[in-house]
Amino acid sequence: MKEQLYTIPLMDALRADEECPFCFIRRNLEQHAIDFTLGSGASYMEDDIRAQTDKAGFCREHYRQMFVYGNRLGSALIMETHLKKMSTELKKQMDHYSSGSKPSLVGRLRRTGGPGETEKNNVSAWISWQLGSCYICEQINQNYERYLATFFDLFKKNESEFIDLLTKAKGYCIPHFGDLLESAQRYLNEKEQKRLREILFPQMENSLERMIGDVDWFQKKFDYRFKDAEWKNSKDAVQRAMQMAGSGYPADPPYEQK
Ligand SMILES: [Zn+2]
Ligand SMILES: [Zn+2]
Repeated sequence: MKEQLYTIPLMDALRADEECPFCFIRRNLEQHAIDFTLGSGASYMEDDIRAQTDKAGFCREHYRQMFVYGNRLGSALIMETHLKKMSTELKKQMDHYSSGSKPSLVGRLRRTGGPGETEKNNVSAWISWQLGSCYICEQINQNYERYLATFFDLFKKNESEFIDLLTKAKGYCIPHFGDLLESAQRYLNEKEQKRLREILFPQMENSLERMIGDVDWFQKKFDYRFKDAEWKNSKDAVQRAMQMAGSGYPADPPYEQK
């Protein structure tokens, strides 16, 4: 049963025949996470959820998306208690200010500095930790990992419809292609990884070549000699090229509360 939960949306994403099925999945996960956090279910009125948003906070991109979503009163409630939590924590850190030359007073903060870098003071280190934490990103990433697991599970089982869609896929955006190869090392043995690379590598090469052709034709259409020529597949070439390089959907309208 649990498997079905992720298999169906994964297959739908492959069937959608988009530039990247994982961008498609992540967009759905993101919209779902925003709805859950700030939508009409009012999860922010539940103490356990509020405790989680108070602690995690949100990243800059998701603050922006929460703002345009539209539930300002919900956001005000979330922000008030999050800021109160931040205020208490920040005061604690400031009371124990340490330049970083001595061992940190806050053991849970991992040191991120590489060799030769100066250690951060504890206040800046705490702020860095807080900035790296986002309640919406956490929800997306947990589910995204399950989709990756499902992807490799179906691949290992050689599930026929999945393999068919996989071999017909256009390709992946570069960031998600990186994720796929990295995750393959955790989920698949050497032989399976090789079999997967034989499908994915030519797809990526073709996909990039096609995309370069599309942005090239897009530019030509600005040349008077081509102004009456067909757009071919180039009308939305810029946003698709940006998706390929950076993932996501730059041309999406703001996601607003329904
Ligand atoms: Zn993608
Ligand atoms: Zn985020």
